[in-house]
Amino acid sequence: MRRVYLDNNATTRVDPEVVAKMLPYFSEDFGNASSKHGFGIDVATAMRDARRSVQALLGAAHDHEIVFTSGGTESDNAALLSALQPGGERNEIVTTAVEHSAILNLVDHLRETRGVTVHIIGVDADGRLDIDAFKAALGPKTAIASVMWANNETGTVFPVAELAALAHETGALFHTDAVQAVGKTPINLKETAIDFLSLSAHKFHGPKGVGALYVRKGVKFNPLIFGGRQERVRRGGTENTPGVIGMGAAAAIMQQRLAAENEQIKALRDRLERSVVQEIGHCRVSGDIDNRLCNTSHIAFFDIESEAVLERLDRAGVAASSGSACSAGSTEPSHVLKAMNVPANALNGAVRFSFSRDNRSEDVDRVLEVLPDVIARLRETALAARGGAAG
Ligand code: PLP
Repeated sequence: MRRVYLDNNATTRVDPEVVAKMLPYFSEDFGNASSKHGFGIDVATAMRDARRSVQALLGAAHDHEIVFTSGGTESDNAALLSALQPGGERNEIVTTAVEHSAILNLVDHLRETRGVTVHIIGVDADGRLDIDAFKAALGPKTAIASVMWANNETGTVFPVAELAALAHETGALFHTDAVQAVGKTPINLKETAIDFLSLSAHKFHGPKGVGALYVRKGVKFNPLIFGGRQERVRRGGTENTPGVIGMGAAAAIMQQRLAAENEQIKALRDRLERSVVQEIGHCRVSGDIDNRLCNTSHIAFFDIESEAVLERLDRAGVAASSGSACSAGSTEPSHVLKAMNVPANALNGAVRFSFSRDNRSEDVDRVLEVLPDVIARLRETALAARGGAAG
């Protein structure tokens, strides 16, 4: 049976070339980058190259604007907490209803424990941000505005360059969680006024547990983690050297291939989406269709439960996701779909297919072979149950 992985927004396979580049840093090149002898200097040199590769992928002006972290969650925490110093004059945050939990749970915590005022901006039915509400929420007390570059569930892309400029008009800093955008859309930070950007290596064929925070030159940064003088005293602790080398290698490969690869990925995504809508029907594609990541298709099937769809797909060797949080056996509808006011009969039937460079046309063929039957059977069961209940 062909196994098909279409959950690349959750994580991607580490590229074999990346693995090969990482391996020596577990063995012969094991030195500590802070050591002044040859073992340390060799590693520090390789880390400098990795930093430059990440800088190039982001179009950042200086390599020192890249701070290595343990991933997207840490980078998000570091950016917001840096801007919100206790006792500071500005103690408000502006963010959106569709952020990742790395932001939403952090701002909840800051509201509860530090009395921070949090403005949560909504989106329309296609997931587009209410820009007027964003503007209205900004003010002299705003410390930082944080808006994701692209949404992890629907792939909707936000106008972050424009939003950064608006935040700056009120003297606020601007952070973007670009964990889903890096590697899926071109980024040129030199052309924007963005102050902080979070990224995570495992979303673009690098290893897990490593990421970076971009901190624009000249922006004051207060560390989240205190310790040694690593990362120019912005993040204490001996660096995850193999991880950093892997992230650099993944960034360099991505930069080379991004344009061509994304065209292929989009073609596969579009074929699957078109066929599902035409052949299965009674479903709705979620997100801003004209402004979406090239790899993501989020389809809400009416009147059925996505968990049942995913379970049956998994049995047929196809991995996809619902995008909704699963806790203690019960599934909560996704906060992103709720924010978009998706109709009640579609809220629980959302399936996200997310592609990467590892997908092939045969993967789409396989989904189209199994999915129509899975949906038809679930609809029959749902109809029978409703008939039974009515009777
Ligand atoms: N932000 C977004 C938009 C994400 O999709 C994710 C991961 O799913 C994260 C943050 C968290 O990143 P990490 O897994 O590196 O902590």
